[in-house]
Amino acid sequence: MNDRLSALRDKLAQKHLDGLLVTQPQNIRYLSGFTSPDASLIVTPTEALIATDFRYFVQAAEQCPDWELVQLKDKPEETLKERLSALAEKGLRRLGYEKTHLTVERYHRLRRKVLPPGVHFVATQGLVEELRMVKEPAELEIIRRAVRLGDEAYMAVAPRVQVGMTERAVAWELEMWARTHGAHKASFDFIVAAGPNAAKPHAEPGDRPIQEGEPITIDMGVIVDGYCSDLTRTFCLGEPTDKFRAIWQIVRAAQEKAEAGIRAGMTGRRADALARDVITAAGYGENFGHGLGHGVGLAVHELPTANKRYRKPLPANSVITIEPGIYIPDWGGVRLEDMVLVRPDGVEVLSTSPKTLTNRF
Ligand code: ZN
Ligand code: ZN
Repeated sequence: MNDRLSALRDKLAQKHLDGLLVTQPQNIRYLSGFTSPDASLIVTPTEALIATDFRYFVQAAEQCPDWELVQLKDKPEETLKERLSALAEKGLRRLGYEKTHLTVERYHRLRRKVLPPGVHFVATQGLVEELRMVKEPAELEIIRRAVRLGDEAYMAVAPRVQVGMTERAVAWELEMWARTHGAHKASFDFIVAAGPNAAKPHAEPGDRPIQEGEPITIDMGVIVDGYCSDLTRTFCLGEPTDKFRAIWQIVRAAQEKAEAGIRAGMTGRRADALARDVITAAGYGENFGHGLGHGVGLAVHELPTANKRYRKPLPANSVITIEPGIYIPDWGGVRLEDMVLVRPDGVEVLSTSPKTLTNRF
């Protein structure tokens, strides 16, 4: 944890900031170890404060022994202001805040009621998120457990999917299996999309009974010790049609191309192109309307990103998804998603769920 704090302090120095107010829940957890989102951190070159209310005093003391606990009671804003005034006396002038997370309402409230005279807010973006991109060995160990549990849930439940089950029922079976086998919770609302519904990349499971031969896309993930997994497979029940087989093979080939070619240092844009070129060459470029992948860690969507717009390199020891897809209105879609560990010499595919045209495996 202290390494993370000193890395953040280096970044603050580069940005000429005297401190950072951290309000983004996963950033709070990453820096302090505090597992509830109901806290704020204030980090300066010499101090590390965690401010929270009565509900969390014991938890904060247990989880963040190296952090100074600021107890917010009857007048939380005054308490914070007093503490910031003391920091201002030690030279706090430019206090960063996380602009992608702080609401407009809270921003104005803090400016009006909490910032002491002489202390100014400076908008920042991604300071902690950039640190979170590169996973430490201990984080990778947890991520591997989350991925394994997601795979086990898929492998246990997918073969039991039958004609006539609803998408919602399958989603619930998957989540129930994962939760009873150790998932702390789902990392997002599971997607189970069959037939025309599978043409929507982020469909909501519905009550329509699943039919034989139509594509069924399952996109699911679990959280273990705070870290997420993310997995997608598309299969059909019964005999695959020629069209399903053909589309599925293109998506598989695109994923294989990306998994064989991506390595640390490659830009997210180039990584995306590896898969996109395969799908475009097959004539379905217009039907792959989302990016190839995203970072996964404490958040299910985080940095780095593998898409056309991301021109920065994918760092070594980042964890990303590789999830090409083809979506055809009124017919359905196919998406295959693996989580991979990005290394200097290539990627290690973490996901182990079988990739099969049907759920017989
Ligand atoms: Zn997913
Ligand atoms: Zn994903």
